[in-house]
Amino acid sequence: MIKSANLIEIFSSVQGEGKYVGCRQVFVRLTGCNLRCAYCDTKFRTQPYCNFETTAGSMKFYRIQNPISSDKVVDAVQAMINEVPTHSITFTGGEPMLHCDFIQAVANNVDTKIFLETNGTLFNELEKIIDCVDIISMDIKLPSVVGTDLFENHRRFLEIAKTKDLYTKIVISAETTTEEFLTAVKMIATTSKDILLVLQPVTPFNHIEAAAPDKLLLFQALALKHLNSVRIIPQTHKLMNVF
Ligand code: SF4
Repeated sequence: MIKSANLIEIFSSVQGEGKYVGCRQVFVRLTGCNLRCAYCDTKFRTQPYCNFETTAGSMKFYRIQNPISSDKVVDAVQAMINEVPTHSITFTGGEPMLHCDFIQAVANNVDTKIFLETNGTLFNELEKIIDCVDIISMDIKLPSVVGTDLFENHRRFLEIAKTKDLYTKIVISAETTTEEFLTAVKMIATTSKDILLVLQPVTPFNHIEAAAPDKLLLFQALALKHLNSVRIIPQTHKLMNVF
């Protein structure tokens, strides 16, 4: 069934974070978010137009008025995949799970893997579309970032997401406390010790300060006592100055 959603942009680029860093993907950025993270630098508010990249990787855009139908997105994604062999299509945001019906409508009509970049809190929405998802990049949001404890939401999300190619990610800043970090690590380990955890050093923004290098190494060492795979990977797309 055709669905519509408000989108920010559609473009072809490299995955800059996490387990699949460097892979070529098509990105579909959706509007809206259910959280307000202290370090957020993403434009996720609804705008009148969505920016469509003219050709894959050109970084040049034309505008189409929101909302956009799923069949138009399928056509745009398929055209980019035909231009450049592509690892997967990433639904990102904002929080893409706010648009799960739209994601399902696109996913059922494109011939590539479906990758979700999510804040890992909307477990009921994930359950609805889990069958059409291949890869999940799940953030764990700590109380120092969102001002509240979301661990029970994350635990329930993990239980559903673990049936797929799942990895977790925690952004580490100068403010991240050892206590909240270890609570998150133990929660992941309770679901499965084999779930990959990526520690992503925060990219300094406004008043958010970077974590010291020795803190990153200490946190990795602490997490490796509970989980089998813990990697430190910064945001590489920002180094390359690509989207
Ligand atoms: S979940 Fe992501 S998009 Fe939403 S506020 Fe946090 S960083 Fe920004």
